[in-house]
Amino acid sequence: TPFAELGLSQPLLNAVARAGYELSTPIQAAAIPVILTGRDLIGCAQTGTGKTAAFTLPMLDRLLASTKSSTGGAPSAHQGSSSSERSSGRRGASHHRSAPSRPLRALVLSPTRELAAQIGDSLAKYGKGSGLRHVVVYGGVSQFHQVKALRGGVDSLIATPGRLLDLKNQGHIDLSKIEVLVFDEADQMLDMGFLPDLKRIVAAVPAQRQTLMFSATMPDAIRQLAQQWLRQPEEIQV
Ligand code: AMP
Repeated sequence: TPFAELGLSQPLLNAVARAGYELSTPIQAAAIPVILTGRDLIGCAQTGTGKTAAFTLPMLDRLLASTKSSTGGAPSAHQGSSSSERSSGRRGASHHRSAPSRPLRALVLSPTRELAAQIGDSLAKYGKGSGLRHVVVYGGVSQFHQVKALRGGVDSLIATPGRLLDLKNQGHIDLSKIEVLVFDEADQMLDMGFLPDLKRIVAAVPAQRQTLMFSATMPDAIRQLAQQWLRQPEEIQV
């Protein structure tokens, strides 16, 4: 299926063209139109199927659609601007007109640092020139650069569950404005013992949100979580 038939806006179609993709993959053709309607979705898919673009493209589309009107879409943000405002999003008449403080609106959970980095690369590639900002955080490395990158606000965050909670508990991350929550490789996150962390994260994001869950396998444990955490999800198998 041509990408132009999936309902993506022009900036994302341009990104797809830049990436050199001719046609959408089956999971993209099935998932993108559903995600664009705002519905929840559970997708059974392996890596290598184009799964990452299947959720990052419509996610960026959503972030862009309502960023332009609300912030003027200033693309001038750079990581780690020197302003040191903390979690009190009050910046009213603060000093420089640096990066506008923006709420964190999209959260992607990943079992591993490698996958998280890969998703971050996709967001960078498809979101190039959009002015949207994202940060990738994972454990096993110093928090320093991650905390610095979070300053000034980002639109989306890709995270492994443990590090996300560490940063949240220290006040570096506010999950109260999340609109889209994505579980990538949910089965692997369960296998790695992240269930307690995932429960804490779900409890900290708004109930009113779009939730997407991808998993290579669909054991009962995943189905049960989907039933608890997703609302009338569309189910997609590839
Ligand atoms: P993923 O399954 O999301 O990790 O994607 C696997 C690889 O396929 C990545 O290197 C993507 O850049 C590439 N890819 C994703 N969608 C398409 C597409 N529609 N056409 C060609 N390549 C794609």
